[in-house]
Formats: sequence, structure tokens, C-alpha cells
Amino acid sequence: MSILVVGSVALDTVETPFGKETEVLGGSAVYFAAAASLFTDVKLVAVVGTDFPLGELDFLRDRGVDLRGLQVAEGRTFRWSGRYDYDLNVTHTLDTQLNVFADFHPVLPEGYADVSTLFLANIDPTLQYEVRSQVPGARLTMMDTMNFWIQGQRDELTRMIGAVDIVTMNESELRMFAGTSSLIAGARKVRELGPQAVVIKQGEYGAVMFDRHGYFTAPAYPLEEVRDPTGAGDSFAGGFLGYLDQCGEITPKTLRQAIILGSVVASFTVGEFSLRALRDLTPAKIRERYQEFRDFTLVEAI
Ligand code: AMP
Repeated sequence: MSILVVGSVALDTVETPFGKETEVLGGSAVYFAAAASLFTDVKLVAVVGTDFPLGELDFLRDRGVDLRGLQVAEGRTFRWSGRYDYDLNVTHTLDTQLNVFADFHPVLPEGYADVSTLFLANIDPTLQYEVRSQVPGARLTMMDTMNFWIQGQRDELTRMIGAVDIVTMNESELRMFAGTSSLIAGARKVRELGPQAVVIKQGEYGAVMFDRHGYFTAPAYPLEEVRDPTGAGDSFAGGFLGYLDQCGEITPKTLRQAIILGSVVASFTVGEFSLRALRDLTPAKIRERYQEFRDFTLVEAI
């Protein structure tokens, strides 16, 4: 079993009330791969420029992530810069520079098309579609997106949504895409385009899932110190899909476990800037926090 992820590999400049870091490792594919590789084999497809410090990805290589699909192109690496205020649920994007992503066309190395799971991380929906078309046989496919693409590439995004099993978005992005304030109505609208399930991220309030079995909700892990919420969504997706990839069957039970595991992994990510927490994360720490989650969400019948 293995997962293929296509997404951004970035240099991020992030400012929160707790500090500022300039041009540090980031990108949707990096956060996802760091999280998912704690559960299963991961293959990554992306592009960086000749200015990218490739040694920053050694920790992924050490975890067995297959980086043969990472192209190095002439030019500058994708850069994103954002700011968070005390309400860490709201991301203020200050700048997005696509740079080498502007001319990127993913080419899958040998073996990449045979994966069991495909994750189309937040990136240009046209690129997501190029990869989706090259991996027709995946057992499970999921995609993420953000306001940048909802506003800029709505038609391509709608086509892409119709080609996956699960869609994940932040709640504000779902409202923007679906044009409704109701998450129930928004999730229904997305499912009418084809996907079986919609997973809505609610930042420090957790995540909810709508599928044909109904509704499941999980809180976020209560953290006293959230330093940098960047990458929470991608590491949530990495925990969620990483676990499902190595499950024999995808059932209502494993989907619920996956939602909690996604929340657990994301809770580590946001405790530190950039990839710092994910670099040191271990399956044992994940299991311990998963157990805590069970304890604080269990309610007895009355
Ligand atoms: P999130 O999990 O949503 O916080 O994802 C944060 C990551 O997404 C950052 O590391 C950024 O580099 C990356 N990112 C931000 N905007 C974009 C974009 N328009 N396309 C691709 N990746 C992006």
C-alpha cells in the first residue's frame, strides 16, 4: 500500500502573535508527506527551483518518502507568506508567488501510478487533474483546495471535485465554494458533484465529516500553546489518509478513527513553527494522544 501526493513544496514566511519565520520549509505536499509517512509509504510529486535547499527534505528521505517525482526546475521556488492574528483560525495570505509552478507539468516516475491512495494537496486544480488522470486505479482519492483557487479557477476546481472520492476544505472555503452559510447544504452541494464524503476542517474547533452514513464530528486536541497553524490542514489529511491507506477496509469505523488520527497529527504540527514538530513525531506519541482523544470524547448512554 502507498500514497501518491502532488502539492506544493514551498518556502514560507509566516507571522503569528508568537513569532515570525522567514523562508522556512513549507508547502502542502511537504506537510502531508511528513504526516502520512508515519503511517504508510509515500511518493511525492512537485517542483522546486534551483534556489531550494534540498537538504531540508532529508528527514522525509530518512522516513522512506520517495522523492523521485520532485523536479528541480530553472527558476525560483514557490513562495507563500501569511499572517495570523490572535484568532488563529483565520489565515491572512500576504503573498503567493507561483514561480516554477507556473510552467510545471507533473511527470510520474515508474511505479507512481500503481499507488493505492492518491492525495491531491492544495495546488492549481489543473495540475491536480493532470495527476488524477495518470492514476486511474487508486482505491481512494482525496483532494484539498483553498480560496486562491476557488476564486481564481472555479471551473477547473469543479471538474476536479467531480473526479475524487473525498473532498476536504476549511469551513470558510466550503462556504465560499458552495455559496451558502450552511455546512450541511454546502457539503450536500459538493457531494452532488460526485465525491462520497466531505471532510470540513474547523481549525481549533476540530473537523466534521459528511458521507452517506450521515455526520461525524471530532473536536481539536485542546492545546494551550498554538504557535503556527500553517500546515494543520495538510498534516490532518496526512494522518487521515495515511491511516486509511494501510487499513484493509475503508468502513465507517476506520473513517472515524482516521478523522481522530488526522486531528492528533495536526495538533502536533501547530505547536511549533514550520515542520519542526512533524520532524520529531513518532507513532508512539500519536498513539498516546489518540488515547487521550478517546477519553475526552467518550459519553456513556443514559
Ligand atoms: P494549510 O495546511 O492549509 O495551512 O497549508 C499551508 C501550506 O500551503 C503552506 O505551507 C503554503 O506553502 C501552502 N500554500 C499556500 N497557498 C498555496 C497555494 N495557492 N497553492 C499551493 N500551496 C499553497
